[in-house]
Amino acid sequence: EESQSTSAPQPAAGKYSWTFDGPSPAREGGGRQVMDLPVASIRRPLGRTRANNQDKVAALMESIQDIGLQEPIDVLLVDGVYYGFSGCHRFEAHQRLGLETIRCRVRKANQQVLKMHLM
Ligand code: ADP
Repeated sequence: EESQSTSAPQPAAGKYSWTFDGPSPAREGGGRQVMDLPVASIRRPLGRTRANNQDKVAALMESIQDIGLQEPIDVLLVDGVYYGFSGCHRFEAHQRLGLETIRCRVRKANQQVLKMHLM
């Protein structure tokens, strides 16, 4: 009998300590869309107040170069402007690698939702 090894190649086991959620089609249906956005097009209103762990950023840079971004960052689209509040280390890793685009999970929201994220 044939073995059942039809799954896609996985990132080298044990090389990195992260676990990956994998694709979540159910959530993608709820007004979220995964797309590559220019890094420079994403506003980060809280960016200056939250310092990143530089060890994490360096490890992510290596991993992203090695196996690519495995989990998109979450972005809000409000009145035609993209806002990022989380995924800070992945975002900085992309900036420092000089990558033009970053894979994002985009959710449309209104000004009220945006204000809540700014509180
Ligand atoms: P962030 O501020 O970007 O959320 P964390 O260090 O808190 O940074 O988490 C890193 C996240 O990056 C994890 O959710 C992990 O699943 C995700 N990730 C996506 N792509 C990679 C990758 N290539 N290597 C390591 N982690 C990755």
